[in-house]
Amino acid sequence: MNQPSPKATSRQWRGVIREYADRLDVTDATPVVTLGEGGTPLLPAPALSRRTGADVWVKYEGMNPTGSFKDRGMTMAVTKAVERGAKVVICASTGNTSASAAAYAAHAGIKAAVLVPEGKIAMGKLSQAIAHNGELLQVQGNFDDCLDIARDLAANYPVHLVNSVNNDRIEGQKTAAFEIVEAHGDAPDFHFIPVGNAGNYTAYTRGYREDIAAGNATRMPRMFGFQASGSAPIVRGEPVKHPETIASAIRIGNPASWELALSARDETDGYFGAIDDDKILEAQRILSAEVGIFVEPASAISVAGLLERSAAGVIPAGARVVLTVTGHGLKDPQWALRTADGSDVQPTIVPVDTAQIAAVLGLAS
Ligand SMILES: *Cc1c(COP(=O)(O)O)cnc(C)c1O
Repeated sequence: MNQPSPKATSRQWRGVIREYADRLDVTDATPVVTLGEGGTPLLPAPALSRRTGADVWVKYEGMNPTGSFKDRGMTMAVTKAVERGAKVVICASTGNTSASAAAYAAHAGIKAAVLVPEGKIAMGKLSQAIAHNGELLQVQGNFDDCLDIARDLAANYPVHLVNSVNNDRIEGQKTAAFEIVEAHGDAPDFHFIPVGNAGNYTAYTRGYREDIAAGNATRMPRMFGFQASGSAPIVRGEPVKHPETIASAIRIGNPASWELALSARDETDGYFGAIDDDKILEAQRILSAEVGIFVEPASAISVAGLLERSAAGVIPAGARVVLTVTGHGLKDPQWALRTADGSDVQPTIVPVDTAQIAAVLGLAS
């Protein structure tokens, strides 16, 4: 694709493939498909440090072009698909993969077909896939059914699979670990991350491992992954037939990268835990109200996981902790409005009257 002169781009982040070309399977001839993904903020979270006694940082992946970390993998997957001559990519999705695949396919001028579980994906994600001209089909089954069919189609028809079972996705996603090591000068002691298919858990472990091999990092973080209690196959040690959770992005009963995730856990002295939906929503609220970062429910499980492990006494004082928060809160905004009794917050209505508004705001003494 067209690239402006190096001078013109010297202050602009160029997307993960160009930024990390020497650490990915690309050449000068690779037709890079990028929307400028990666280079996301790594922010201190003083409110969480105070609550836990640890030194807590948040990797804000909602700041990617389509609002989730999926873009890091999708730039690689669509680039490699185009390099191999693909005209159509296909994926199964709980929402964010479909939004990302449709956007990158649109940018590349190819077609994206996406299979999503009927009625189970957030409105923001559905509208993204449609907006980017994805061919979106709602399958009358769950995510795991969608992935089975997507794999079937890729094996038997001229379509290219861009789910995280595609190694190009994992390769692109490992760059988030590179960015963390670059920002801090080393890997953290603990890394907390949501787990659905466990592709991202696998990708970070690979990124850190490569940084250690390259001499950029001196240690492997303990990788702590979290699933929703109603959808926790890895924690329970068996597939969940009918996974249920409000965290729709991780509503997966039979993770594609299950085996890889178990070996990554063993390699990193890691951990998999399960968190109830009410704790996920509580953590989402803490992150938005006390840190200023709005994430979708699945992402908040990193925060809930930290609070749970900290209460369990597992996180030493002063430990460097990084939480990956995977997707933007605007993807699935309804949960932020929900009150404890299940009704929605109703913003106060006031007349056009300064004195009365001052009184309502508690400004008048
Ligand atoms: C895809 C996704 C996940 C789960 O990632 P896996 O690689 O499938 O484990 C978590 N959170 C969000 C917001 C996602 O879109």
